[in-house]
Parts: sequence; C-alpha cells; structure tokens
Amino acid sequence: MQPGPSRIAIIGSGIAGLTAAWLLRKQAEVSLFEAGPRAGMGAYAVDYESRGSTTRIDIPLRIFCRGYYHNLLSLYQALGVRAIQSDHAGVFADEAGRILLHYGTLRAGGLRLPYLKPESVISPRAWRLAAASRRFFRQVKSDAKAGTRFRDLSFADYLDSLPTPRDFIDNALLPVLSVTCTCDYASVLRYPADIMIDYLAGGIHDFGVMYAEGGVDNIVPRLLEGTRLHTNAPVETVFPVPQGLRVQLRDGRDEDFDHVIVAAQAHQAAAMLPAFTDHVPQLRLIPFERSELCIHTDGRVMPDSIGPRSPVAYTLPADRKRAQVSVDMTRAFSRFRRQAPVYQTWHPLIDIPPERELARASFTRPVVTRESRPAVTALQTLQEQPGNRLWLCGAYMTDRVPLLDAAVQSAMRVAGGLGAGIPWSDAGGD
Ligand SMILES: Cc1cc2nc3c(=O)[nH]c(=O)nc-3n(C[C@H](O)[C@H](O)[C@H](O)COP(=O)(O)OP(=O)(O)OC[C@H]3O[C@@H](n4cnc5c(N)ncnc54)[C@H](O)[C@@H]3O)c2cc1C
Repeated sequence: MQPGPSRIAIIGSGIAGLTAAWLLRKQAEVSLFEAGPRAGMGAYAVDYESRGSTTRIDIPLRIFCRGYYHNLLSLYQALGVRAIQSDHAGVFADEAGRILLHYGTLRAGGLRLPYLKPESVISPRAWRLAAASRRFFRQVKSDAKAGTRFRDLSFADYLDSLPTPRDFIDNALLPVLSVTCTCDYASVLRYPADIMIDYLAGGIHDFGVMYAEGGVDNIVPRLLEGTRLHTNAPVETVFPVPQGLRVQLRDGRDEDFDHVIVAAQAHQAAAMLPAFTDHVPQLRLIPFERSELCIHTDGRVMPDSIGPRSPVAYTLPADRKRAQVSVDMTRAFSRFRRQAPVYQTWHPLIDIPPERELARASFTRPVVTRESRPAVTALQTLQEQPGNRLWLCGAYMTDRVPLLDAAVQSAMRVAGGLGAGIPWSDAGGD
C-alpha cells in the first residue's frame, strides 16, 4: 500500500463487496459500484402485507448454521446483528403430493433432535430413510477428519463408495443439496467430494439453521458505513492506466483508482476484464447455473399432511433434475407467525397464478467442479503478485461451497491483502 489513504473501487455489492468495503472503510476511500438500483445483498427484498401487518421478506432467505459459518457469524457479531434459530424441518413428497418422509425437530441444549411425523411413523420406508440419514451423517463426520483423502474424488464417486441406500441419496440428500447449492442434482454429484463432506460435517445436521435478526435491512446499512455507494452504476470495463486502474461505467463515465476489487460473480468479472488476459481464461473455467425463486401465497406447493406440516417441502421431480423447494415462511420464521401463509419457492415446478405471486427473481450461482478448483488457485496466485492492483472476491473465490461464509472469507482475504486488520481470525476451510 502507498502512504496515505488509497482510493479503492469495489464493483458489486453482494455480501462479498459489502464486507470488503466495511473492512477497508477506516484506511481507504472506498467507492462501491452496483449495477442494480439497490445494494445487491438487499436487491430483491419485498414487503408482505397481511392481517394488518407488514413484514419484509428477504430474497433469498440467507440462512446459515453454527459450525460452517464462522466468518459470517463473526462478521454479524462485529456488526451487532443477532443470529436467531429457525425451524427448517422438512417433508419430502412426489409431484402428486404423496409423502415419502416427514420429520419435525425438537431442540435440546442447542442441538437439533429430528423425529418422524405421523404419516412417517407408520411408514417402514420413512424409518429406513431416517436410519440411512443417521448412518450417513456419522460416516461423513468420520470422513471429514481424513482431510485430503477425498480430494480427487467427485461427490458421486464418494457416494458410490458407501453402503448408503439409493433411496436416501436420490429422494432426500440430493434434493436438499440441490437447493443448498442451487444447482441440478448432476452438478451436486460433480462437486469435489472433500468440499461436500466438509459442508455436510460442518454442523447443519447437528445444529439446524439460523437467520439474521432484521434480515438484510438490518445488515446492509451497517456494512455501508463510511462507503460511497453508487447504484444503477453497471461497470463496463476495468483497465490499467499509468497511475492505477480506470473503472469505466456503461454510461461512459470513468474514474481512476489505486486498487479495484471486482466482487461480481466470475462470469460477470470475465466480461468486464478483457484487458486482463491472464485472469479471463481462469474466470471462464468457473461454471454457474441459473435458477428462479418465487414468493407467493399458493398453498399447492405444500403437500397435505396429518397434523401440523413441517416448514420446508421438497417436491421430488419425475425427471430427477432438481427439486422444487418451498419454505412456509409463517412456520419457519417467528416474525411471520401472525401472518397469512406465504411461501418462498425455489425452482417452481407448478404454474403459480400471477394474482398469488408477490415477487419472482432469477439468480446465477457458481458451481464448484474438480476443474474449477485450479482456476481459483491460479486467480489467488495472480492477486498475490507484488504490485497487484486488481483483486477478485466473491463466494466463488474460495475452495468451499459458495455460500455466504465463503463470500465473507474471500472479502477478508482481499481486505487483508490490502492491509486491513480483520477483527476475527479466518476459520480457514481452504
Ligand atoms: C436462490 C439462492 C438462495 C441462496 N440461499 C442461501 C442461503 O440461504 N445461505 C447461504 O449461505 N447462501 C445462499 N445462497 C448463496 C449466496 O446468496 C451467495 O453465496 C452470495 O450471495 C454470494 O455473494 P457475492 O457477493 O459473492 O455475489 P453476489 O451476491 O452475486 O453479488 C454480486 C454483485 O455484483 C453486482 N454486479 C454484477 N456485475 C456488475 C457490474 N458489471 N457492475 C456493477 N455491479 C455488478 C451484482 O448486481 C451483484 O449485486 C443462495 C443463492 C441463491 C442463488
């Protein structure tokens, strides 16, 4: 770093860009450029009015758990944002609404204790699935200790090496992982085995999930403290000039900076960095998938059940490509308890009537493959070169499942590379 505050541009205000801005705010003049009309992390939140009250719905929900999300939890703690437990117990049904497995969760001493709901108590298949789940998570935890042993295997190879029943893999594990990774079952199976094992052993099974109190509206303003945010400011290109890097917006305006952090996704970064011929081929090796989320009040996404239904419904598709996953917000999150049912459905398989739809959003999300890993390593090596001015961060820039924690971790590493102090220790994971 040069003496005096440097001028830093950050492109993209998802959680990675926002975290980098917050970490660098005391030592640099930070300008944050966002293509959309609002900070990216809160770009799609909508208000839901029912029964005389209005509640803000985050899209997507942005849940996390103890165990795997050390960096995110440390960030929220530093910001003064509380993490609250939510109920994400599930019901798995086919497209005709026939229930295969329905479980609830009790909580004891911070731990999550699953139990079978009535229609599953009388189903031998559900008991077999529950037993397979217990054995699988025991195995995964023991394999997580074996470190790099599974590095050269795909998740499909790993599953083939276990005695785990296909019924559990196809009708419970893959539907859950397809929404966690927001990609097709086939892409889940192509994930490097050690990355998936690390995630599965990380705590999701033991502790269940949490969300941030107040959602993105409580987080984004705190992360923006001390930063100049430019919305509706899509960046066209970044290129070197003698004294630093020039950021050129799509509307023709430009500005020079000492350093530029590109915190957009890999394919978006590749499009704005044609001058960086070492980076672009590596960025193009990082695949991504597109998916849709719909917020609505169409109760047909949940199967009928005997007694209270669990909040998350997995509809298993006949084509075995990706599940439809619906969260009943009023059952999952305490702040919606007094409202009429409202659902967030990932990858809707049914047509939701427009009058029942509150919002619909399309997302892209990186996928990790055995081929994308060396590309990320190469990009990390490029930004460790002395005199480097171009930095990349985002959930794809770690060797982990690209979730919120990976995005925060990538921002910590870039901010650390630019000399910022990080108020907590990096949990590693790469
Ligand atoms: C449907 C869905 C549900 C998810 N649920 C969860 C969850 O519950 N828990 C969890 O841990 N993770 C979840 N994730 C993953 C999580 O959302 C991502 O890991 C995280 O958003 C990645 O943040 P990021 O900052 O790297 O990228 P992004 O959030 O993609 O941010 C990139 C930003 O860059 C901006 N941008 C792009 N191009 C330009 C340009 N040319 N100029 C200016 N700005 C630009 C974009 O508008 C965007 O705001 C989910 C993902 C999806 C798709």
